Amino acid sequence: MKTTKILLPEDKIPRQWYNIIPDLAGAMAPVIHPGTNQPVTPDDLLPLFPMPLIEQEVSTQRWIDIPDEVREILALWRPSPVFRAHRLEKVLGTPAKIYYKYEGVSPAGSHKPNTAIPQAYYNKVFGTKRIASETGAGQWGSSIALACQMFGLECTVYMVKVSFTQKPYRKSMMQLWGAEVIPSPSNLTNAGRGILEKDPESNGSLGIAISEAVEDAVTHEDTRYSLGSVLNHVCMHQTVIGLEAKEQMALVGDYPDVVIGCHGGGSNFAGLAFPFVADKANGKDIRILAMEPISCPTLTKGVYNFDYGDTAKMAPISKMYTLGHDFMPPGIHAGGLRYHGAAPLVSQLVHEGVVEAEAVGQVECFEAAVQFSRSEGIIPAPESSHAIRGAINEAMRAKEEGKEKTILFNLSGHGHVDMAAYDAYFAGKLENYEYPSETISESLKNLPDVKL
Ligand SMILES: *Cc1c(COP(=O)(O)O)cnc(C)c1O
Repeated sequence: MKTTKILLPEDKIPRQWYNIIPDLAGAMAPVIHPGTNQPVTPDDLLPLFPMPLIEQEVSTQRWIDIPDEVREILALWRPSPVFRAHRLEKVLGTPAKIYYKYEGVSPAGSHKPNTAIPQAYYNKVFGTKRIASETGAGQWGSSIALACQMFGLECTVYMVKVSFTQKPYRKSMMQLWGAEVIPSPSNLTNAGRGILEKDPESNGSLGIAISEAVEDAVTHEDTRYSLGSVLNHVCMHQTVIGLEAKEQMALVGDYPDVVIGCHGGGSNFAGLAFPFVADKANGKDIRILAMEPISCPTLTKGVYNFDYGDTAKMAPISKMYTLGHDFMPPGIHAGGLRYHGAAPLVSQLVHEGVVEAEAVGQVECFEAAVQFSRSEGIIPAPESSHAIRGAINEAMRAKEEGKEKTILFNLSGHGHVDMAAYDAYFAGKLENYEYPSETISESLKNLPDVKL
């Protein structure tokens, strides 16, 4: 029988994370304090993050040890499987070999616990009692709630109000794992009260929820903030995905010609791709492709510039691809791909031409997700469907060209809690929405003026 699942034993859970910073071609731009317009110091960040994570954020050490306490919890689902998509290949009639790394096996159903667990661990070691964070549809909130539960930390999650009322199941997951979930805007913070005074019926936004969580953290000595994507240490924690995948491909004597991930803030993409970027830097002939939605085309239509991390201009300013911090993404179903910016590390690699980016419409992505489910069985998260679209496009190109090609993509999560999106697709209610270039230009007028 041919191999379908490529599995590693538990002792193959990586013992170190891969930090790509020392292997970048150019130096990284500094991160800027939104108040002073000067580069941030570790002390500036201390009200937000515990020192071990601040150290990781700026570390130039290539390999960083994963603590045993973290590996023991990762062992609840790691190493995650790599699948060979035999049945999808057959349906497509492609000569290409398609492999996917499946991160939906984590308790929260996505890759996000890979960073939530170490973040909670370093907070615990540092003496933090409570973590405050925000969530849109709840993927990150459920992951950080799980992680806090595992390490005996309290957890407060500000959840965008419209999701709190309309998408209740991830709220239930957070509560099951012991978190306090607060609809945002709330009357618990100045940021929330300010919004409610102007609009008592406000539906909230991710930007407002970030402002509430940050305010909560900086106004409580025993509380720290936590972010599920974008930051350097988050991308690094996710490299367990790519490090395992490389071993799994080697087990079947294969190596990808193209590596594909969907891109929201950049963490699952970075996690799979960065260990392969290292090979590319050492001369391997490999393409690395980030897939994003045409409704939030950060990498393909944004500019590479300094911008605020959040709408309220409270978060640090980073150099990244951005659509402008006041960009208002339309309500597409891949909620996890609606961030105005991108990880500075991924941005730099796109800017240097090491990583390619492509934008796709949500209708084509759901088509790909349905084709995938009907051949491989797994129901993908709407976010992950962007990577599937990319992989199917590559496989069909290989068919046209009559070429053998090896494709590896990241299936970042399952879609069990996103079935309303599939219902909308089958009811013909989904449309492709291409964000207008003029509106992007408008947002880009408000970028901060950073002079170094
Ligand atoms: C949050 C999420 C994403 C997008 O976030 P990244 O940081 O870009 O990885 C992608 N897929 C799933 C399943 C998610 O939950």
